[in-house]
Amino acid sequence: MTKEINVGGVETFSMVDYPGKMSAVVFMQGCPWRCPFCHNMELQKINKVTGFEWSKFVEFLKERQGKLDAVVFSGGEPLVQNSLPEAIEEVKKLGYKIGLHTGGFRADFFKKVLPRVDWVGFDIKTPLNEARYNEAVGQRHFKEVIESLKLLLQSGKAYECRTTCDPRLLSIDDIYTIGNELKSLGVKEYYLQKYRPIESDIITQEEDCEKFFTDKKLLKYLKESFSVFDTRK
Ligand code: SF4
Repeated sequence: MTKEINVGGVETFSMVDYPGKMSAVVFMQGCPWRCPFCHNMELQKINKVTGFEWSKFVEFLKERQGKLDAVVFSGGEPLVQNSLPEAIEEVKKLGYKIGLHTGGFRADFFKKVLPRVDWVGFDIKTPLNEARYNEAVGQRHFKEVIESLKLLLQSGKAYECRTTCDPRLLSIDDIYTIGNELKSLGVKEYYLQKYRPIESDIITQEEDCEKFFTDKKLLKYLKESFSVFDTRK
């Protein structure tokens, strides 16, 4: 049994966290990023008593064998958890596919985790520019992000890259830039996700959030740039 893994919450059924699969999602505690669009701030700290225990989640997965296809490790940032490879192995033994949501923290550790996962949802927060990244997420891990993304692309694993279109952070031009950069790196699958204003954001209007999804020129450009491109609203 995996020891010392900090669970912040679970979603017992999801059709949206692992494409095409019925999954359960486990939200890991701890996150080095400070995304301004975060709806899960309570997951940023580690070692919080939550009432969710890994062993109970594993018992739940045993009961759901044959009824669910996959387990997604989400966060927070799951790569914060040193016991993640062990936890993944435990779930794989039960016959589940493994999904991972990450921003690409700790490339060396990601390298260790990657062979164990079947699909990765990789967050791209801003154009791939160190100053922009640091400013947006308040952390200096940009080189790790690039390294992790390259590892993912070299691995041949199924994946998607996605960007949350927070208009306080990103402009339409920024999305063109991200599109260009990802295309040059060889990314094939990309999604734009709509920003849902966090509680403290009383300035952002619906039309600010919507503008990324109604710009036909931008959407056409992205469709032509990737084998798979779509929007999530
Ligand atoms: S990666 Fe997720 S949990 Fe961490 S700050 Fe960003 S939105 Fe919040």
